[in-house]
Amino acid sequence: MKNVFVLFGKPGAGKGTRLEEFLKGRKDEFDVLSVGNLLRNARKNETELGQKAAYYMDAGLLVPDDIIIEIAIEGLKNATKPIFTDGFPRTVSQAEALIRAGIYPLVIEFYVDDEVVFERARDRIVCKSCGATYTLSSFDPPKKEGICDNCGGELGKRSDDCDDTVRNRLDVYQKQTYPVLDFLGKFGIRTFTIDNYEPESASRLFADLVLSSL
Ligand code: AMP
Repeated sequence: MKNVFVLFGKPGAGKGTRLEEFLKGRKDEFDVLSVGNLLRNARKNETELGQKAAYYMDAGLLVPDDIIIEIAIEGLKNATKPIFTDGFPRTVSQAEALIRAGIYPLVIEFYVDDEVVFERARDRIVCKSCGATYTLSSFDPPKKEGICDNCGGELGKRSDDCDDTVRNRLDVYQKQTYPVLDFLGKFGIRTFTIDNYEPESASRLFADLVLSSL
């Protein structure tokens, strides 16, 4: 198995955005396991997995561990390149499964305050086809309104980006996800934290960290 980089942080802390930037021009060198994107695709294709996940996702809750662990561990074991996980592990049980599978990742946490998470969720639009993210504000808008620059897909709000759901997701993060760092620490797995307020310096730090760990 190749290097595994766990991207950690509150939902909406900007993990996916930093990763998209890093992968520009490097797409062939890395794999990505994004559990959220896998689940959104499953919903779009109306598979059994998608139908099971929909309720939890729209409520801002985590999808049950047994469903997630199976798809995530299989994806990681099959990786043939260094791989990033965006959104796994999100519970101590998921982290246990990682250790049981003999996977000792490098954990990179992106940190922002809760208020920034709310602001970003209000501002975020995503491609319904490929998952690329843009903003409604002038920060990172698509070239053509409502259309994805990457694939021409339709842009829209994520169903879980409303204030109530974001509040639930932050609460779930604090109670169920944050303890993962302590748990992994017991196995000697350190966390590198990057403040994700200023995109350029965060991106630089992130790239340095990943490239120096290969
Ligand atoms: P994300 O795009 O990573 O914010 O994920 C969107 C939603 O998918 C989350 O709010 C959860 O409902 C579900 N999800 C993503 N990753 C996991 C995970 N590791 N464990 C459980 N549910 C997850």
